[in-house]
Amino acid sequence: MNEDTIAAIATALGEGSIAVVRVSGPNSVDTVAKLFRSKQNLRDADSHTVHYGWIVDPRTEQVLDEVLVTVMKGPRSFTAEDVVEISTHGGIVAVKSVLELVLRHGARLAEPGEFTKRAFLNGRIDLAQAEAVIDLIRSKSDRAFQVARRQAGGSVSKQIVPLRQQLIELIAHVEVNIDYPEHDVEDVTADFIRSNCGTVLKEVNELLRKSNEGKILREGIVTVIVGRPNAGKSSLLNALARDNKAIVTDIPGTTRDIIEESVSISGIPLRLLDTAGIRETTDKVEQIGVERSHGALNEADLILLVLNRHEPLHDDERKLLTQLKDRSTIVVVNKIDLPGQLDLEEIERDYPKERIVFLSAKEEEGIDELERAVSAMFFSGAVESGDITYVSNARHIALLHQTKQSLEDAIQATYDGVPIDLIQIDISSSWESLGQILGDAAGDSLLDQIFSQFCLGK
Ligand code: GDP
Ligand code: ZN
Repeated sequence: MNEDTIAAIATALGEGSIAVVRVSGPNSVDTVAKLFRSKQNLRDADSHTVHYGWIVDPRTEQVLDEVLVTVMKGPRSFTAEDVVEISTHGGIVAVKSVLELVLRHGARLAEPGEFTKRAFLNGRIDLAQAEAVIDLIRSKSDRAFQVARRQAGGSVSKQIVPLRQQLIELIAHVEVNIDYPEHDVEDVTADFIRSNCGTVLKEVNELLRKSNEGKILREGIVTVIVGRPNAGKSSLLNALARDNKAIVTDIPGTTRDIIEESVSISGIPLRLLDTAGIRETTDKVEQIGVERSHGALNEADLILLVLNRHEPLHDDERKLLTQLKDRSTIVVVNKIDLPGQLDLEEIERDYPKERIVFLSAKEEEGIDELERAVSAMFFSGAVESGDITYVSNARHIALLHQTKQSLEDAIQATYDGVPIDLIQIDISSSWESLGQILGDAAGDSLLDQIFSQFCLGK
C-alpha cells in the first residue's frame, strides 16, 4: 500500500456545472475533514456515504464552495485505498482552489494515471483492465466504448485466466514425467502436450481473429473513396456523413492535404480519407485520383469504388476494378435513380454480389445497403449478436501472437522428437506471455510507459 495520499481534478477541465476533486490514500479522509464544514464530522463517516457541506480555508474559515463529499473506504474503492471525492460546482476557479487547499493539507498532486496505477498495484484490477481505462477515455464510438468498458470490467482477463490454468496443469504434468522418466510415458506425454497445447492454441487463434474486429472498433476502418470525376464520390461522402449524424472529428491530415472525417456506421467508426484525388479536380492527370491518393489506397482497410451507372464502363474504371479486386473493395454502383448504361456482367466477373452495392448518393437511397455490406465485410456474426468482449489492445495482441508461436513450436517439437524438457520451455513461454497481458511480473518501465498515457485525475 502507498504511504502518501494523492489528489487531482478527476473531471475534464473546462466549463461544466460540477467538477470533482479525487483524493486517495491513507490520509484522504483526514485531509478533507480539515477543510470540510458540515453537520457530521467526516472522520466518523461510514464508507460509501455522501455528505453535504462547505469547503473552507481552515486558516481564515473563508468558504470556497458548497460541495458534496463522497467517502469510499478501501478496499472497496477504485484504488482499493480510502478515497474521498469532492464534487464542487463553482466552475474551474473553485475546483482549482479546492484542489490547492487539499494539496496544502496532506496530499500531493497525482501523476497522470496514478489512481489507476494504484488500483493495479493494489491488486484491484489487472494490467489489461487498467489499459482498458485508457481506451475508455479515448473511445470515439459507442461500440468502442462498450468494448473498453467490458475490458475494464475484466473481460480480457476472464478469457486469459482459464487458458493459463490449463497450461499450468500441463506444465505440472510434463514436469512429473521429466522427474520420473522411468514411467516410460514419453509417448503419452507427447500426445498429451499436443492435445492440450492444441486446445489452448485454438482459443488463442479465436482471440486473435476477434481482435482484428476489436482493433477496427478502436481505431476505425480506414476508408478511401475512389472513382472517376462525377461518379458521385463527394455526394457519397456527404450522404454517409449526413446519414450518420455522429461526425466525430475533423482531423487535418499529417501528410499532404489529406483530410480525415470520421463517421460511425452502425457503431463502427469509418475513417474516411478525403484525398486530394477525392476532391474536385479538373486536372486530367488527377482525374481518377489514384495517383495522388496512391499512398492512402495502400493504407486503406476499405476501398469504396464508386461507379456511375448512368454511363458505360470507362477504361480507367476497368483498370481500377482489376487493380482493387483482391483488396477489401466494395463496388458502389451510384445513380440508380437514373437510367442504367453500365454493363454489370463485367463487374460481376471479378466481384461477388455481396461486394456490389447499388445506391443513389443524391437521393440517399441504399446507403443502408452499403452499411450492411461494410458490416458484413469486417464483422462476423458473433459481433453482430453483441459479443464485444474481445482483445483490442495492441500490446495484448502482440502477446497473443507470441503465445501462439510458442504453442505451435511446442506442438511441432513433439513431432520432431525434441526432448520433453526442451518442449517444456516453449510451453512455459506461452504461459508467461499470457501472464504478461495481465501484468504478471511487469517491470517498472512497462508500467511507466502504460500509465503515462493517462490524463491527469485518472
Ligand atoms: P465526384 O466528382 O465523384 O465527387 O462526384 P460528385 O459527388 O461531385 O457528383 C457529380 C454530379 O453527380 C453532381 O452533380 C451530383 O449531384 C451528381 N450525383 C451524385 N450522385 C448522384 C446520384 O445518385 N444520382 C444522380 N442523379 N446524380 C448524382
Ligand atoms: Zn467530388
